Amino acid sequence: MDIFGSTDPRMMPKHFFGGAVHLDYRTAIRGNPQKQNYSVCPRHWYIDADFNCARCRREFTWTAGEQKAWFEDYHFWIDSHPRLCKNCMADRKHLESLRVEYDSTVAAARHRGATEQKRRVIEVVRELEAAFGRLPEKMIEMPLIFGPVLVI
Ligand SMILES: [Zn+2]
Repeated sequence: MDIFGSTDPRMMPKHFFGGAVHLDYRTAIRGNPQKQNYSVCPRHWYIDADFNCARCRREFTWTAGEQKAWFEDYHFWIDSHPRLCKNCMADRKHLESLRVEYDSTVAAARHRGATEQKRRVIEVVRELEAAFGRLPEKMIEMPLIFGPVLVI
């Protein structure tokens, strides 16, 4: 008897690959539920799955091997799947790291008033503004914090 696709990858619950435009069952490899983070329904198989990126709309493949790493090495929640392609994910990580740098540099600059840090804040803000078109509220308010130092 097949339980959640235990004997046949085609019997796996559809929500595991929600939004996929194609599943390649020839690539199926066995999952190990003992290593997975789930409550009711484990992934008995990993299968190459094609998705459209939520940001750039390009198609990308979430490979069976990547899925095994997600669920058995990193222990991601069993229902998760990627929404962004690798390029967009890398862009997002870069922008997130800029935001973290922004926060720590602003905090340091406010504390010590170092000119070099203020310059770096401005560079980071410009890159974020170029990427997003508009800035989060706290960044728009930054000139009020730094005043004329912003004009370099
Ligand atoms: Zn993308």
